[in-house]
Amino acid sequence: MSELSVEKKVSGKIEKLTGVKGMNDVLPPQSAGVEWLEAKVRALMSRFAYRNIRTPIVERTPLFIRGLGEVTDIVEKEMYSFRDSLNDDPLTLRPECTAGVVRAAIEHSMLYDGGKRLYYIGPMFRHERPQRGRYRQFDQIGAEALGFSGPEVDAELILLAVALWKELGLNDVRLELNTLGQPEERLLHRKALITYFEAHAELLDEDAKRRLYTNPLRILDTKNPAMREMVEAAPRTLDYLGEASLAHFNALKSILEANGVAFTVNPRLVRGMDYYNLSVFEFTTDRLGSQGTVCAGGRYDYLFEQLGGKPAPAVGWALGVDRVLELLKEQNLVADPVSLDAYAIVPEAQALPVALRTLQTLRELGVSIQMHTSTAEGMGSIKSQFKRADSSGARFALIFGAEELTNNQLAVKSLRDGDGQQITQSLADIAAWAVTLQSKN
Ligand code: ATP
Ligand code: MG
Repeated sequence: MSELSVEKKVSGKIEKLTGVKGMNDVLPPQSAGVEWLEAKVRALMSRFAYRNIRTPIVERTPLFIRGLGEVTDIVEKEMYSFRDSLNDDPLTLRPECTAGVVRAAIEHSMLYDGGKRLYYIGPMFRHERPQRGRYRQFDQIGAEALGFSGPEVDAELILLAVALWKELGLNDVRLELNTLGQPEERLLHRKALITYFEAHAELLDEDAKRRLYTNPLRILDTKNPAMREMVEAAPRTLDYLGEASLAHFNALKSILEANGVAFTVNPRLVRGMDYYNLSVFEFTTDRLGSQGTVCAGGRYDYLFEQLGGKPAPAVGWALGVDRVLELLKEQNLVADPVSLDAYAIVPEAQALPVALRTLQTLRELGVSIQMHTSTAEGMGSIKSQFKRADSSGARFALIFGAEELTNNQLAVKSLRDGDGQQITQSLADIAAWAVTLQSKN
């Protein structure tokens, strides 16, 4: 403690520190929900042969400017950027992970022997206005298939997300699909859009006017109700697609249909980042108010080149962990945290060394145990220790009484069964009875 803080402590004036707005603490028992979701995701990813990639939270700023595009919400106003205080490098807390994954794939020549299926889980940072389902630090889970051009991989990724909803028990997540075509088709569509929007200039809001010549596609996903009708009638990408792009879209649709995956084609679905081409998609729900998109993605066949790598096709999605957890909570679908097997009652402090040694062995054998701890007043009465044991939710109490310990034994009492049966076990053959303490799940 510095002298200043000692002084403040004596005068009772140490200021309370708080976290950063929009960046939340996840406390138990809510944290168990996050762990539960992550465990489900990891198991599912491995069944789909996707392997974990972990890229740094900080990247060089130009990665995002070049990767996501200059005229995007993220690059224009949402990035946490700063200068490295040692060498003045422009750095940014990652607002998303696709650019970092592609950078890593290029840097480590990951595609030298063929495509790679990857997934990540981790925090992203965006300077947005915090509200329900929208935070400044938030977790995303993402899946990226790098080096594959076929529509079956777009389908695989969508089926991966569908499998996840099923695994989690979520059944009112809807899929919306669109295709953006290839760059030359986008160019034709872009021209048609500019002409159309110019003809309706009086209806454009400030945002739309600013984007008219830089990123007219983004005007399509305006949330402004006054522009809704005009935007609904705007030229659609679908009408500018060549044969190959149409075939890609149709192949994707027929795989989804063959799998019974319901979807709607939404011609105004364009996505926030510039890097997308061909398929784009979003999974949405009505249950989360205006933050209803839980998972979104698409194909980004030109991002490798854009970041200085050898051209390689790719497709992926990212899911908002907070929104999915909110949905699970709303539908009471989050599993209970793992329950305790045992609570250790230690009547006298002299028994602590033997007690801790025994607990260590039991834990090695797979038993989960919470130990009773002393306060300034000592270990507390047996009665108060039993109260704690009951409220801990443990199924058994282990009692390290002086008398039992002299015989190298302890008492095991059932806290759940009506009769509260108590038996004596020998410390010598601990492995034989440790299994009886463990819950079956
Ligand atoms: P939105 O239109 O809601 O701003 P986005 O297009 O910016 O979404 P993406 O960059 O595609 O979102 O991110 C994928 C997912 O990550 C979103 O669908 C959402 O579930 C989640 N997400 C995005 N931004 C946030 C945020 N600030 N807080 C919590 N989750 C977020
Ligand atoms: Mg956004």
